[in-house]
Amino acid sequence: MESDDCLFCRIVRGDIPADVVAEGELWVAFRDIQPQAPVHVLIIPRRHVDSIGELKEGDASLAGELLIAAAEVARLEDVDESGYRVVTNVGERAGQSVFHLHVHVLGGRRMRWPPG
Ligand code: 5GP
Ligand code: ZN
Repeated sequence: MESDDCLFCRIVRGDIPADVVAEGELWVAFRDIQPQAPVHVLIIPRRHVDSIGELKEGDASLAGELLIAAAEVARLEDVDESGYRVVTNVGERAGQSVFHLHVHVLGGRRMRWPPG
């Protein structure tokens, strides 16, 4: 799927407002509308990809950029020293509700393991 119907493609295009905290050439990072921790930022590729399950060998730089962006967001949000979690849900059963790849960066509180 691309785009008219995809919520996060609409955020990338600026059709829907978002609280953007950082941007790169390939990605945008913005605050989750329903934060599950004091810091909860989503990092999404500008290009529509359903989930990491769709990434191919040629997407290695994109995949790497998303992880590097997660660390950058953690520094910007000042949770790099206190600790943070980086999560991407794949499929409805794993908790994915928006089918445009996104990496959650969660921090500012103690995280439990295993996750629910
Ligand atoms: P998922 O459940 O797919 O892993 O994560 C989707 C996330 O997107 C959820 O944490 C949800 O709160 C967030 N979300 C859903 N709609 C919007 C929106 O319109 N704006 C923002 N900023 N976040 C959203
Ligand atoms: Zn999309």
